[in-house]
Amino acid sequence: MQKITIAIDGFSSTGKSTIAKQLAKSLGYIYVDTGAMYRAVTLFAMQNNFFGEAIEDKKGLVASLSQINLKFVYNDELGFAEMYLNGENIEKQIRTLEVSKLVSKVAVIEEVRIKLVEMQQEMGKEKGVVMDGRDIGTVVFPDAEFKVFMTASPEKRAYRRYKELLDRGDDVNYDEVLKNVQERDYIDSNREVSPLKQAKDAIEFDNSDMGLKEQFDRMYNYALRVIEKQ
Ligand code: C5P
Repeated sequence: MQKITIAIDGFSSTGKSTIAKQLAKSLGYIYVDTGAMYRAVTLFAMQNNFFGEAIEDKKGLVASLSQINLKFVYNDELGFAEMYLNGENIEKQIRTLEVSKLVSKVAVIEEVRIKLVEMQQEMGKEKGVVMDGRDIGTVVFPDAEFKVFMTASPEKRAYRRYKELLDRGDDVNYDEVLKNVQERDYIDSNREVSPLKQAKDAIEFDNSDMGLKEQFDRMYNYALRVIEKQ
């Protein structure tokens, strides 16, 4: 069967990655979490004191971009690929609220985007890929055959994220998570380079009141119809 490219974009914590992973598994496609790549660059920027609560050294970070080597390594036990930065597994470190607070500031940097978009296009060049992010259907793969734009209310999204962080054992409070979700929505939607916006040919998918199974069933059936038409 002909392989297609599936682009899933949308706001923070809409559950894009959960659905994208399931879709990729069911279709035998590769899954690429592009948010993890922006998070990895952010962690690098924090570790090297280019970015922090009171520091924002864009020039320093841009000058060091060539020292960043990112790789996804599939973990059989977990059933998904984990993010590696210069040979180190950083999957856990990139999911903290500290990284979430800074990542949108790093993601506005044009040079960072150019580097990561190039890598993403390379990873998806054979098709058979499900990629989630903010600019996949608009910039990375504007010709993707199936584009989804996921939304849900900020409160629902913050609650989901809050539960996830609590389950991991992080010490968080709901209001702080909600504030982070709203701030990221704002920065992601209003930045100059590749702002988050729905591609003209993307279907909008509001999952505020939808369980995982229903979301998956709908998307999977839709993807199959698109694949059959190829
Ligand atoms: O998807 P996730 O929430 O992990 O993404 C983290 C951040 O990375 C987003 O808030 C956004 O600032 C940035 N991002 C982006 N473009 C992408 C994926 C993520 O700008 N394709």
